[in-house]
Amino acid sequence: MWADLQPVGRVASGGYRRFAWTREDHTLREWFAGECSARGLDLVEDRMGNQWAWWGDPDVAPGVVAGSHLDSVPDGGAYDGPLGVVSALAAVDALRDSGFRPERPIGVVNFGDEEGARFGVACAGSRVITGELDADRALGLTDADGVTMGEALQRAGRPTTIGTDEDTVSRIASFVELHVEQGRAMADADRYAQDGAAVAIGTDIWPHGRWRLDFAGVANHAGTTRLEDRHDAMLACAVAVAEARGLADKHGCVATVGKLQVEPNGVNAIPSHVTAWLDARGADEAAVLAMVEELSERAAADVSRESWTPTTAFDTSLAARLQTVLGDVPMLGTGAGHDAGILSNAGVSTAMLFVRNPTGVSHSPEEFAEQADCHAGVRALTAVLRDLAG
Ligand SMILES: [Zn+2]
Repeated sequence: MWADLQPVGRVASGGYRRFAWTREDHTLREWFAGECSARGLDLVEDRMGNQWAWWGDPDVAPGVVAGSHLDSVPDGGAYDGPLGVVSALAAVDALRDSGFRPERPIGVVNFGDEEGARFGVACAGSRVITGELDADRALGLTDADGVTMGEALQRAGRPTTIGTDEDTVSRIASFVELHVEQGRAMADADRYAQDGAAVAIGTDIWPHGRWRLDFAGVANHAGTTRLEDRHDAMLACAVAVAEARGLADKHGCVATVGKLQVEPNGVNAIPSHVTAWLDARGADEAAVLAMVEELSERAAADVSRESWTPTTAFDTSLAARLQTVLGDVPMLGTGAGHDAGILSNAGVSTAMLFVRNPTGVSHSPEEFAEQADCHAGVRALTAVLRDLAG
């Protein structure tokens, strides 16, 4: 399966470009359908085109679902998403090879448009079916070429009658998303322990938010304006970016300014206005909010909140059950968003499994997991599905 996926959407850097509702996405969806049909699984698509493959009938009793996504960020890694889908299919194979007969249906899902790389909203597939993203708003989102999601769906030969899908959500008794780890917590733990764990259980998704910072200045000539006469919006912004770093350190969270808009945006003009976007996350909600509060007091800017998502805690009893099955494996929170978080917020009993990433690098061609660790992930997922569906 891994070899089949390797060439799809690969770019010169060795990374991947697999955006929603493109030719590459179509190839991946066809691949998934083929794998499911080869296993005799019943494939259904929900109202947002997410693909669900069932072993057993989830309309008789809700089932246990594993899976992830196949799309990528620009120049993304091979593992983020596909590892969860491939591992779920491999776990089905392992269960069948061992003669296992599920008491509950088992499902494998391929969520569409998880990264939001094309239309800017992450987890669009799961957000639409759970009602967290309004269908009209989704259809009106535009990509970098000005193509709306509605137009992209039409061009891909898809219906535009997207929307909440309660039937689909009600078929899920529990969801377990296996994912490559996107940090270095497990690899770092190995430095202290002789036998590091290849697999960890996800406990929660960190609280995270986005803030807009507006810095005002006065445009003037970059050559003739004396330093003491300047009102340079960029200078205030630069100070705030450095402050954010220090405050994040102080409050034990992370802060990133990765996007700026500059007026008039000329090399030889003093900036009259800078808009900066701050992404702030951390394990502790109060610490993240205190950090942003302190930054708001110090920065020479108008600060406004654009979004805030509190901690998403996965089902603690399901995590405990996984721990019983898997033994003494680490429990990890994560700073990255996932479809598992969207389903959890929609009331689905949800858990995650992380597979060790030796460098912690993700959303980059450098993203990696050792084959032995990937196999350990499949074994863990197989054991979990056997327990939950047995
Ligand atoms: Zn992912």
